[in-house]
Amino acid sequence: MQLLVATRNRHKLKEIEAILAELQFDLRCVADIPTLPDIVEDAASVRDNAIKKAVETAKLAKKLTLADDTGLEVDALNGEPGVRSARYAGDEATDFENIKKLLASLKGMPLEKRSARFRCVVAIADEKGLVDCVEGICNGTIIDDERGGGGFGYDPLFIPDGQVKTFAELSPEVKNRISHRGKALQKAWAVLSRYLREHSA
Ligand code: IMP
Repeated sequence: MQLLVATRNRHKLKEIEAILAELQFDLRCVADIPTLPDIVEDAASVRDNAIKKAVETAKLAKKLTLADDTGLEVDALNGEPGVRSARYAGDEATDFENIKKLLASLKGMPLEKRSARFRCVVAIADEKGLVDCVEGICNGTIIDDERGGGGFGYDPLFIPDGQVKTFAELSPEVKNRISHRGKALQKAWAVLSRYLREHSA
């Protein structure tokens, strides 16, 4: 059975492919279907954005679809940037600009006050609507300078609890095992396995 992944972010796609590799799905990406429009991420929460992306894409593509939406919640910023993480430094902001803005917002703040978490919601939908929606959280600390060349987004600033390296310094295998996306996709795995059982002839 095909599973369409509703992301144009190649880093995310790589992580999703690695984590779901053993599942018996033929993974496709929305970038491979040029007729599919971009879904506007204008919902009030990462959960609603993930559901919107999955449901609208599944309806248009007529395929089982998985969408993820992620937010970085910084306690000292009252949970910001949260649902606005991609657009923190402006509508077309790059990862570099978002990182610079986050560093500026936390300038001078001691490490013990720089707690944060990534929240990742994975929604699965088919032509008929939402199948299920699951969440993964990874707690950690925002450091005061970028470290590491791996990962993407805010990874060079984020040290997950229990580690001494940032997500950008850890190997992809370790990141995928402990990350918000890894945890959400482990739950999604169970949802997809059930779906496969119920819908295969
Ligand atoms: P979205 O889920 O693609 O909307 O991502 C929201 C923002 O969080 C973007 O700026 C991403 O670069 C960033 N982001 C998403 N997932 C991760 C991650 O696993 N690590 C670091 N940054 C991430």
